[in-house]
Amino acid sequence: MRTAAERVSRCALDTMETNMSTKAIYPGTFDPITRGHIDLAERASLLFSEVVLAIAASPSKQPLFDLPERLEMAKISLSHIKNITITGFDGLLIDCVREAKAQVVLRGLRAVSDFEYEFQLAAMNRRLDPSIETMFLTPSEKYTFLSASMVKEIATHGGDVSQFLHPEINKRLGGRLGR
Ligand code: ADP
Repeated sequence: MRTAAERVSRCALDTMETNMSTKAIYPGTFDPITRGHIDLAERASLLFSEVVLAIAASPSKQPLFDLPERLEMAKISLSHIKNITITGFDGLLIDCVREAKAQVVLRGLRAVSDFEYEFQLAAMNRRLDPSIETMFLTPSEKYTFLSASMVKEIATHGGDVSQFLHPEINKRLGGRLGR
């Protein structure tokens, strides 16, 4: 049974054979990884030969889960995707991209509100290394409103966020919040 992402991307796949040796990095904090992130990773895995989900340590964002926990949760949530690897990084994204020998930085665009920050980030990364392209994907419309921070906010106040997370991640989030 094909996922929605597989059905949507089949046409793109047919016309992108020349792109099949391209490696993309999908960076973020993933605190925790949500079904929106998973949706994007599934789409990317059909378009690129290899995808690296790169989890930023981001200590300044004071994440709820530390880096090893976020790495483990991403591994659990993405175990069904064969051509994805998961790594952590601390420091400049562009250094992580070079180290992984990737050609593309992949980001998600949910709404217009994401655009300004993402545009600035892409422009800055291009200035730092013009050989690296940033590409954007949009998620399935049912995830366009979903963000990790909103999931944490709702869960903190006792709301049910199970539809937004892999069941194991939902369990871990509940445990972290003492539920
Ligand atoms: P940040 O890099 O701001 O810490 P996140 O870790 O929350 O961001 O997300 C990483 C990337 O995934 C970003 O490009 C973000 O726009 C994208 N993203 C987050 N949630 C979704 C979603 N529901 N659908 C599509 N893309 C998403």
